[in-house]
Amino acid sequence: MRRRTEGIRKLNPPQNTSNVLEEEVRYLKGVGPKRATLLARLGVNTVRDLLLHLPRDYEDRTHARPIADLRVGEKAVVSGTIADVQFRPTQGRARGILQVTVEDRTGSLTLAWFNAHRAWAKSFAIGKPITAYGTAGFYGGLQIVAPDYELGAAPAESEKFGRILPVYSLTEGISQGVLRKIVLAALELAAAEMPEAVPRSLCRARKLPGTTQALWHAHFPADMKDKDAARRRLSYEELFAFQTALALNRARLQKARGIAFRVGANVDRRIRQLFPFDFTPAQNKVIQEVAGDMRADHPMNRLLQGDVGCGKTVVAVYATLAALAESSKGYQAALMAPTEILAEQHYLTLRSLLERARVRTALLTSAATPQERSRNLQQLADGDLDLVVGTHALIQRDVKFRDLALVVVDEQHRFGVRQRLALREKGLPPDVLVMTATPIPRTLALAYFADMDVSIIDEMPPERKPVTTEQYLPADWQRAFEAAREELRNGRSAFVVYPLVEESQELDLTSAKEGCEDLKTRVFPEYPCCLLHGQMSQKAKQEAMDGFRSGRYQVMAATTVVEVGIDVPQATVMIIQHAERLGLAQLHQLRGRIGRGGHPGKCFLLAEPRTEEARRRLEVLTRTNDGFLIAEEDLRIRGPGQLFGTQQSGMPEFRCYDFSDTEILKQARDDAFALVGKDPALRRPEHAVLRRKVLAEYGEGLALADVG
Ligand code: ADP
Ligand code: MG
Repeated sequence: MRRRTEGIRKLNPPQNTSNVLEEEVRYLKGVGPKRATLLARLGVNTVRDLLLHLPRDYEDRTHARPIADLRVGEKAVVSGTIADVQFRPTQGRARGILQVTVEDRTGSLTLAWFNAHRAWAKSFAIGKPITAYGTAGFYGGLQIVAPDYELGAAPAESEKFGRILPVYSLTEGISQGVLRKIVLAALELAAAEMPEAVPRSLCRARKLPGTTQALWHAHFPADMKDKDAARRRLSYEELFAFQTALALNRARLQKARGIAFRVGANVDRRIRQLFPFDFTPAQNKVIQEVAGDMRADHPMNRLLQGDVGCGKTVVAVYATLAALAESSKGYQAALMAPTEILAEQHYLTLRSLLERARVRTALLTSAATPQERSRNLQQLADGDLDLVVGTHALIQRDVKFRDLALVVVDEQHRFGVRQRLALREKGLPPDVLVMTATPIPRTLALAYFADMDVSIIDEMPPERKPVTTEQYLPADWQRAFEAAREELRNGRSAFVVYPLVEESQELDLTSAKEGCEDLKTRVFPEYPCCLLHGQMSQKAKQEAMDGFRSGRYQVMAATTVVEVGIDVPQATVMIIQHAERLGLAQLHQLRGRIGRGGHPGKCFLLAEPRTEEARRRLEVLTRTNDGFLIAEEDLRIRGPGQLFGTQQSGMPEFRCYDFSDTEILKQARDDAFALVGKDPALRRPEHAVLRRKVLAEYGEGLALADVG
């Protein structure tokens, strides 16, 4: 660890020194308002954020390597004497290519700068020592282009050499050098202030260093082992707090009194009669688990996993109807979906199933006028509505239920853990059933849903024909459209999906809109085509969905909004443009939209894979239809950081934990659950810091008072 005190000074001392971690970064030495704005783009607003903005990589510059040992593509430090200096002008006379030959006892290489100033060559004197760092390349000989370097006899340690340097994720306007200095200033100022949330006994048992030391070592490690231990510690702490929140939630729900629904044989028979098919054995098994939870007098908290198309909706509908069956009780149920389109679809499904029942149902989406919304809210609060279907808008603070008894959350992926915990705020804890869109790898499910019971549907409805999936390179795209035309001729329908272009909704829309024009005028002029994307008005969306469902439109050009839940039996074709841009789970989810009506589905991946990873992804998809296998593959190919590290996934965002180590996830879970088992309200003094941290980060739904 290296602490250098020179040049580190606070411009403005914090008002409250005990809370220096919460101080805005702009008051930190070397930051100021302009850089603070840039740092905010990295999610860095406070000194604490800065301390937890861990390096994405490290440059090990502790030792120079013998030149003869260098391998092409490797980053390394070399140290030697200058043997030759060459300048070749390229533009006029002032600028050109500068090549400096360096020799050590084992060999020689060239340091090269393109577009260098002629005058610069003079700073390199033959026979003088030089140390340089960069990536070794080969251009007629070993070469490092534009290395970081230092002239003069190599000191044991300097700002650039003899140490391990952190490499941070940057944003335009802030360089590595600047960020390193700023982080160092933050460490000097505040590393010692970071509270120790992990109880000492656990630190000892798991061999974790203290927080202050871990912060220093994570940013400026003396060796790579220190760095690993430090990062492990910071990851553990983050996971531990998260798992403690889940453990508290579980403990709380197990103690809480909930509603004991009467799900009897009559109710069961009445619900089954509503469906035109028999439930599969897997559906029956899960329905029994759910019904068991509902009968029990403590709240259900269950996760339902199943591959796309396995019939999870049936379970959701069953639970909903069972909850509302005793109409005299005045119970209310809420069904939440990730998108408005899916919410509408669920709403329509439920309304048609409930035609003869006296269930008062409403759809609550952002498209409602303020008057409609406030009327619905009033009715919910008064108990004049029994069932409400909607998006996340349902858990906003102004939504009050008279007696919310059941919440079903469809497609958990987009629904954050914090939101899940926040559900608990509304009166008596309701029964909660959460469904995933596609399977989640086992290790991760265990960690993320550690507070929940898990049910799995592991079989498909009987007539389901597996979807065949083929990949087409650009030269063959026309063939894919021809194959699709065959299906359209037989009266089936086709989706054509235009995925997100560079995370930009604007471009995304343009490509779907232009795609739609192209389909209408050139590709399938003989078949009516509609457009669907998230930015359309509620009415326009409805028109498109209704038209596509009824067969009036046989082709739908869409963004990935069709990814979740849409159920149109005659749709047999899924054409995905630029499939290489999408992740495995998303592609699998998309192709789950077709082949639902007893006719086999055909999925065409129109792709130009440029990376090995993209090639593997597409290959997996053409090879298997098994969502559980695909989830495991996805984990292997991309790593969980990519899988779950995004906001969209709904998983908590970790700042330190990078998902590369699942063992630590299990340890944190075991430790947190054991700790909460012993101290269920975190009342012991040695848990005070942890308690504060957990409440600050996950507190919304965790009324600790309920636990004790
Ligand atoms: P997901 O699990 O992807 O949400 P859905 O619930 O949307 O799947 O079901 C997919 C399709 O299978 C729907 O059209 C549904 O009506 C149908 N389905 C569900 N269960 C059965 C069953 N037991 N027998 C026949 N068809 C079923
Ligand atoms: Mg579904």
